[in-house]
Parts: sequence; C-alpha cells; structure tokens
Amino acid sequence: MSEDYQQTLQDLSLASKILARHGIVDGFGHVSCRDPRAPKEHYLLSRNLAPALVEPEDIVAWRISDAEPVQSDAPRGFLERCIHSEIYRQYEDVHAVVHFHSPDILPFGLMPIPFKPVYHMASFLGPDSPPIFDISDSFGPSTDMLIRNTTHGAALASLFAHSSGTPTRPLVLMRGHGATLTAPSLKLLIFRAIYTQHNARVLTSLSALAGGAHNVIAQNAKFLSPEECEAATASISGQVNRAWEVWCKELEA
Ligand SMILES: [Zn+2]
Repeated sequence: MSEDYQQTLQDLSLASKILARHGIVDGFGHVSCRDPRAPKEHYLLSRNLAPALVEPEDIVAWRISDAEPVQSDAPRGFLERCIHSEIYRQYEDVHAVVHFHSPDILPFGLMPIPFKPVYHMASFLGPDSPPIFDISDSFGPSTDMLIRNTTHGAALASLFAHSSGTPTRPLVLMRGHGATLTAPSLKLLIFRAIYTQHNARVLTSLSALAGGAHNVIAQNAKFLSPEECEAATASISGQVNRAWEVWCKELEA
C-alpha cells in the first residue's frame, strides 16, 4: 500500500470519529473522500458502520460512475452512498463529502430561515443561504426521504452548482432529512462541518433572542458581506491543520 493511501485511510477514520464526537453524525451519517490511487474513478467510504467505530480496515473503495464497490467481495455499504458518487461525478473540485442528520441543522431545511455566515469561521458558506433539497419536488410525496439510487443522488448533487458554474456551493440542506457538505480536501471538510454546526447554533440562539421572529433576523441581522466572506475564507484556509490537530488529540482523551 502506498504511503499516501495509508494516510488517507487513517485520516478518514479520524474524520469519522471527530464528526461523531462533535455530534454532527451519530449512529448514522457518513464521510468520504476521493481515492488517492484513482481520484477520478473511485472514492473511499466505510462499510455500513456507525461513524464513531470506523477504523482504516473498514474503509472500502467505490466506483464514482455507479456507486458499486471496486472489489466484488466488498462488505455491504451505506444505502445512501449515491450521494457521494454523484457529487464526485458532477464536480471535479470536490474531494471530500459528508452527509449528516444533525438536529442543529435540521430546522433550517424546513422553511426558508436565513442560514448565512454569522462570523468569520463560517465565511466559506458564502453570502447566500444554501439551497434546500426537497425530495418530494422531484420524486413525489411518498418516498422514505432517503437518497436510494443514482437518480436521487444526481438530483441532490445538481444543487451544489452555482448558476455561473464553479466553484461549487459547499452546503445543501435537505428537507426532513439533514444536509450534505463538500470541500476540496478532507481536513477542510471537517473544519467546515464543525463550523457549519456552530453557525447553526448561533443562529438558533439569535432566534431565541429575537423572540423567534425570523423576519426580524432576516431584516436586521448583519451577516458577512460577499467581500467579507471571500477575505475571511482566504485568511482561515491556512489555519485548518491547527484545528485538525486538536480535534485528533481530543479523540485520545
Ligand atoms: Zn441520510
């Protein structure tokens, strides 16, 4: 095994455990990255297992083209792995994906409450609220809400595109389900996941302070401007390792 591949397995195991420790995933949810041995063809994602339990040997290579395993004798995978394959298939700049059902995020997918960056750490979200994927829009009112096949996955993945093309939006909220987040690297993805959750918590606190009046927040909260989003994202992107190191250290405690 190449050193790069071994390190990626190790990092993906750590990433799963960090997300679980921070309550972004629980018994459900999953994180993936492109396979460094064949980044355009394959991605790495654990077998069907709770994220907190994922070890490097639990990680399996899957085909981006159809979300089927590269090895025919691979263990059973997640039902919703098409989320990952379809995003990698549609966006070359995405190298890591997490899908999660965090209760901190869920309210923002139920109605158009602003989900904009409240501070510099969430500047990567950009100045506009993320799109909300509503499975009933495309697949009717009787689904089980899950992304069960590549058609569902492609519909979800399409929402990461800006109308102007690249770069992609990092986050799509999913009504009655959760959210999916992307990044150009695995460490940056974990950073984004943790600060997406913090941003949601601050907005929920703000909502309480505003007496639950979302129109008050929409009209009066001073979110980061497009220019502030861009400048803060550039400043913080060099600091990702500092956060990753402490989150890994916390796992040892
Ligand atoms: Zn799900």
